[in-house]
Amino acid sequence: MKRIEKVNTCFLPTPLHKLENFSKELDNIEVYMKRDDLTGIGMGGNKLRKLDYIVKKALDEGCTTLLTYGGVQTNHGRLTAAAAARFGMKSIIMCYGTPPEEMSGNLVLDRILDSEVIFMDTSEIRAKMEEMEYEEIVAAYKNLKKSSTDDVIAQRESIGEKVYLVPIGGHSPEGVMGYFDAVEEIRKQEQEMGVEFDHVVVGNGSGGTYAGLLLGKEYHKAPWNILASNISPKQEREMDELVDFCNEVSEQFEMEVKIQKEDVHYSNEYTGIAYNVPDEPTRQVISRLAKSEGIFVDPCYTGKSFSGLLGFIEEGLIKPGEKVLFIHTGGLPGIWTQEHEVGFNEDLWKDLKIY
Ligand SMILES: *Cc1c(COP(=O)(O)O)cnc(C)c1O
Repeated sequence: MKRIEKVNTCFLPTPLHKLENFSKELDNIEVYMKRDDLTGIGMGGNKLRKLDYIVKKALDEGCTTLLTYGGVQTNHGRLTAAAAARFGMKSIIMCYGTPPEEMSGNLVLDRILDSEVIFMDTSEIRAKMEEMEYEEIVAAYKNLKKSSTDDVIAQRESIGEKVYLVPIGGHSPEGVMGYFDAVEEIRKQEQEMGVEFDHVVVGNGSGGTYAGLLLGKEYHKAPWNILASNISPKQEREMDELVDFCNEVSEQFEMEVKIQKEDVHYSNEYTGIAYNVPDEPTRQVISRLAKSEGIFVDPCYTGKSFSGLLGFIEEGLIKPGEKVLFIHTGGLPGIWTQEHEVGFNEDLWKDLKIY
């Protein structure tokens, strides 16, 4: 196949270990965790593996600034800013929405990194949302993003910067290579530990992580069943597009593998109320894992994907006697946002003691 070069913001391999206590709570199912919350700089997370390839491309093109966009609480934005800092570039994060009343986890880190944070006001779209079709809403967000980023890029280029536009979530063919590589890394760790996983569970947002794992699994002929737990509900059409995207990437890098629709297993069952909206079941899963293993997952992504893992067990997709690997994709700064703190605080404050 055709390999491309990358930079290194990651400290690899990331740890992979068994959740001993948590597994004991289950009916003869062994749960392991790939600690991609510990990938590298900028407090880690899955986006860093993708950024290693994306930053290389930006540097090769002589770019001086990385610009990306996403939600106000974007982990990808924070890690793009950290990667930019590491390679002497500037960064701009464009967020859908308006500044929150309180600084939140990722925004604080973005500002410490001296990243420029620009908000794209979505109030006009939201005011009309009830009368709009789903496709119209998606198109309106796309237009807002296009016109705002075009403006900012033109302005920066007029003062001599060269801007690289990093797609949302690092969702690009180069970005996919990050998780394609992770498969080889996990296969090696399986060998060292003398285990082989039946299932791999991962959260799915923009799709690049899942795409990379699917392609890597085919290429390395891993026997895994890879189950994606969507972070927000996705339509079947979007999952079909992900299959097409995988096959385009396979062709581009001459992997000589083909992803079939049947290879894609996803669930919309564990998305909670909506994207990044706090909910009690997710909070309980976060607390359950923390209490048994001392490991945190976050309320926006990994709390929900870990709920997915438990749900897949309940559904019988993961069966007694099997081994499952959960990919911890990071996102912990998401705990420190007003909406989540409020939910946690109700529980957390009630038992505080003063001696
Ligand atoms: C972005 C993100 C995901 C989703 O990854 P995609 O490659 O966009 O599907 C999952 N977990 C965390 C913590 C993230 O920041």
